[in-house]
Amino acid sequence: MIEMIDVWKTYPNGTEALKGVDITINKSEFVYVVGPSGAGKSTFIKLMYREEKPTKGTIILNGYHVEKMKERQIPKLRRSIGVVFQDYKLLPKLTVYENVAFAMEVVEAPKKHIRNRVMEVLELVKLKNKVRSLPSELSGGEQQRVSIARALVNNPGTMIADEPTGNLDPETSWDIMRIFEEINMRGTTIVMATHNKEIVNTLRKRVVAVEAGRIARDQQRGEYGYED
Ligand code: ADP
Repeated sequence: MIEMIDVWKTYPNGTEALKGVDITINKSEFVYVVGPSGAGKSTFIKLMYREEKPTKGTIILNGYHVEKMKERQIPKLRRSIGVVFQDYKLLPKLTVYENVAFAMEVVEAPKKHIRNRVMEVLELVKLKNKVRSLPSELSGGEQQRVSIARALVNNPGTMIADEPTGNLDPETSWDIMRIFEEINMRGTTIVMATHNKEIVNTLRKRVVAVEAGRIARDQQRGEYGYED
């Protein structure tokens, strides 16, 4: 479960990115975060995994009081959240296998579990035949599937994605969404910021619209609601 209570974020340069956000996201929900550019969607997402700290307010994620966590506790939080980015953020010199295994190594998972688990998640994203490839040898869609495998490998209860289809063509975007659906069906909570109108209006989920730092709309099986 994710809970934000009266959350505010003002950046050091004075920009008020979030202005009093209250929201509860239950376990196994699938939530789209939509809204105009600059509305505060990325900030909203970054606060959840402590990439940024709120100026004021309370954030509880999977039982952790996120805004109060000490630096040394943050790895524990990150283990319970998988994060997927628009630009994949893979390590360019590591193979597909090594990119995914690395996420387990940094949290000191037992060595004997690593191989099986890495192969299991690569199977889920249908990349078992690319284990030895480097990111530069993959298509955008394949790179995004590696980043999803990496996000999932520690079995997180929550997956957060910031514009995961932003660099992909429509067909590849749907491949990625089918994987997200599968992950969500297995019980993982998904929070996904997106500008993809077609996906939001077709694969109906809860829609949270952020506008000028506030939640302007929150609907079950909602619509995208913007023209772009
Ligand atoms: P969105 O994801 O909806 O486009 P963001 O959360 O990225 O919105 O940005 C919200 C507002 O905060 C914008 O005005 C943006 O310019 C500003 N902003 C985002 N990150 C920073 C930062 N690190 N420092 C200062 N201002 C920022």
